Amino acid sequence: MRVNFANPNLQYQLHKKDIDHAINKVLTSKAYVLGDEVKKFETEFASYIGTKYSIGVANGTDAIEIALRALNIGHGNEVLTVSHTATATIAGIMASGAKPVFVDINEEYFTLNYNYIKKLISKKTKALVLVHLYGQGAYIDQIIKICKEKKIHLIEDVSQAHGARYKNKRLGSYGIISCFSCYPSKNLGAIGDAGVITTNNSKLRNKMIKLREYGWDSKRKSLFLGRNSRLDELQAAILRVKLTYLDDDNKKRNEIAKKYLKLKGKCNIIFPETFINSEHVFHLFVIRTKKRNLLIKKLNEKNIFPGIHYPIANHIQPGFKHLVKHKTNLEITNKISSEILSLPIYPGLKSYDVKRICAVIKDF
Ligand SMILES: *Cc1c(COP(=O)(O)O)cnc(C)c1O
Repeated sequence: MRVNFANPNLQYQLHKKDIDHAINKVLTSKAYVLGDEVKKFETEFASYIGTKYSIGVANGTDAIEIALRALNIGHGNEVLTVSHTATATIAGIMASGAKPVFVDINEEYFTLNYNYIKKLISKKTKALVLVHLYGQGAYIDQIIKICKEKKIHLIEDVSQAHGARYKNKRLGSYGIISCFSCYPSKNLGAIGDAGVITTNNSKLRNKMIKLREYGWDSKRKSLFLGRNSRLDELQAAILRVKLTYLDDDNKKRNEIAKKYLKLKGKCNIIFPETFINSEHVFHLFVIRTKKRNLLIKKLNEKNIFPGIHYPIANHIQPGFKHLVKHKTNLEITNKISSEILSLPIYPGLKSYDVKRICAVIKDF
């Protein structure tokens, strides 16, 4: 059987009974959008992350746009982030009207290199969107310190790190606002599109509640231009079920990672490192090799299909390349995009398949 880098259908099959029950409850209920399931999910998710509030939205891209708009960031402003991330991060920033400014990454953890932040800050810089790529946060203390000193907002993009901790606090509790995608392949994935935002700030929370629905107040008066970015009851009910399994699922991802990591030093491949004080949730297990095509071929021969996250960095995408400043150094971003490969990792991946993958890697 074909083994892909992720398997959202299996995530359903593993909890089918609970999920089917939750879906049926919604089908016979009175509300299909922004009802009790959404409210309960918001309470449970905030409590899980360790923030006062959470707000369900339609997807992760919207979460980023809404977070920035809540902070009055838009046209004429700049937002620092990495080029080495999902297109969604960049799309969310651009949807707010602000301009993304790309910061290079560090080679060890594939996350934002804080040494470049100060050089790229201008009078227009209002925020930094910190992406916890592949499942962990790195150099968070340093980044928080610089953001405070330079008076720019820290927004976390936790779409690849649901449940991960840094210094015993969950990611998504460090920024003034944090954004999560719950796209089906994520560690906490819906069966369709979904997103969620966390914050401790009640004013920002109230504004984001309005921003997600036409700018409406409780009397359905539009106080300003808002979006339609509501979370529906079916997705919220499914997410509530999956949230109860998230820690367990993340443990299973770690167990698979451990097996892969045993091969470190035994073959010609660079393995991922875990940052000090970080608890990694291995959304993706990303290795590096200069002979990527050959390794893909060898894996494909065994019916194993790894992914590449991401093959073309955002700063060279046709729609985004105009954003690059002359002085921007994106050396590491450029270097790794031809070397990275995401091995299959998800709860329910069979040990038999992990062994087969290990065998190919070990011989390489
Ligand atoms: C998946 C993802 C998003 C958001 O994706 P949506 O498809 O809009 O839900 C944002 N940032 C990162 C890093 C992601 O991986």
